[in-house]
Amino acid sequence: MSLPQIQVTHYSHRKCKFSESADLKINGKTLVTPTFAPRLKNDGELKVYHTIRREYAPRQLSTYIVRLLDIGRTLHSDLKRSVLPSLISQMALDTSPQSEEPLLLIDPALEYMYYGANMERLAKTPFVSSAIRQYVSEFIEKSGKLEEGKQLFRDATHTNFWTCIYEDANKRMKLIRDTFNVELRSRADVLIPPVPFITSPHLLEVAIYMNEKSRAFSSALSQDKRECSDYFSMKPSILRNERMMSTIKEYVSTSESPLTIFKFKNLNLNDENMAIERKEFKDFLIELSLIAQHVENKAFMLFEAGNQVFPAALSSFAVVSTGFNLDREDRRKDQKEISPFMNRYDPWTMTMQSKDTFLKTVENNDNLISCHCRVCKENPTVPIHDFIEYNRLAKEHYLLSREQEMNEILTAIEKQDALMGFEKLQRSALKNLTEIIPR
Ligand SMILES: [Zn+2]
Repeated sequence: MSLPQIQVTHYSHRKCKFSESADLKINGKTLVTPTFAPRLKNDGELKVYHTIRREYAPRQLSTYIVRLLDIGRTLHSDLKRSVLPSLISQMALDTSPQSEEPLLLIDPALEYMYYGANMERLAKTPFVSSAIRQYVSEFIEKSGKLEEGKQLFRDATHTNFWTCIYEDANKRMKLIRDTFNVELRSRADVLIPPVPFITSPHLLEVAIYMNEKSRAFSSALSQDKRECSDYFSMKPSILRNERMMSTIKEYVSTSESPLTIFKFKNLNLNDENMAIERKEFKDFLIELSLIAQHVENKAFMLFEAGNQVFPAALSSFAVVSTGFNLDREDRRKDQKEISPFMNRYDPWTMTMQSKDTFLKTVENNDNLISCHCRVCKENPTVPIHDFIEYNRLAKEHYLLSREQEMNEILTAIEKQDALMGFEKLQRSALKNLTEIIPR
């Protein structure tokens, strides 16, 4: 029997209560957990990520995520759009893993079949299965004609599409094959199945079925036996549904897949009104932590973790991921002009700061940036008039700040300092999140 493609190595001196730092070996590459994985959406962001890795050799930034619909502008942006479809089928399938290279995961991100943001792009990208493109195009056309009842129409057609995939083996196989082929050609290190965005018990059932079928199919498709993860992408309100949550926990504890990825779309547990969800999320973290520590070769990832990056990495998740904007892009509703200067991460409040707020804090500090990360130390003044440079430094600073947080967690675990995460959140603007830390 060959060795499993994912191996989790536990160390007794890297455990403290519900926190753990393990070595996660995937496709020949080893991650030190907790790992922060930025979600990169264009070639500029990929360049920033590579620069940080080259210049600062961060140990806990060794993974990145690209959504299926962003592959064109991130991994193949230099190819002309018109020649893309023919090139996709010709791309070389280079499968030899390089241990020093970062781990890459392609997120199918099919929640945009449900959410309006990015739907147009989903309809056009040649990297998404034609079945999805066709669905989205038809949906946009039909829902555009509706005067009312859009929400009902959206729920009904979305459910209908996935019921059809559930029942029709040929359509299902085509969707899985199309998705995996693009992931493999993009050199993803783990296969992530195309699962429905979960909004109901029925779609949870379909998601579980898609996970099982994808896993069974993956070994036939990937010659070098690329591991296939389980994937649950869902509405945050599912946290309040006891039956659905226990179905998920039960599935995770018995599934053969060593890796389970979760995404709670637009989750913000720091919100005052989310007390019930906070309690449920804490129970969920405890459960995952117990599974990770007691089941051989089992690890968890959280995509689009938003404000929950730090507490999730502290408690149960081996890999946590966000975009550079803390995953806020999908929530932008107003049409007012957007500043070309991006928001900047403030490591003390652990939230984003507008340019004006940031400049005020710099002004109060003799016009020097008071951050201790290496990017800010080497660039202590703000390029106020150059938004390209400002944004580049903000992104580099973001990556190093997250690396610093992951490193603080690792150090606290080694020192058996169980209170570190609690106190750090207590001092930040995310105080409510102290309630989700298992203690
Ligand atoms: Zn900094």
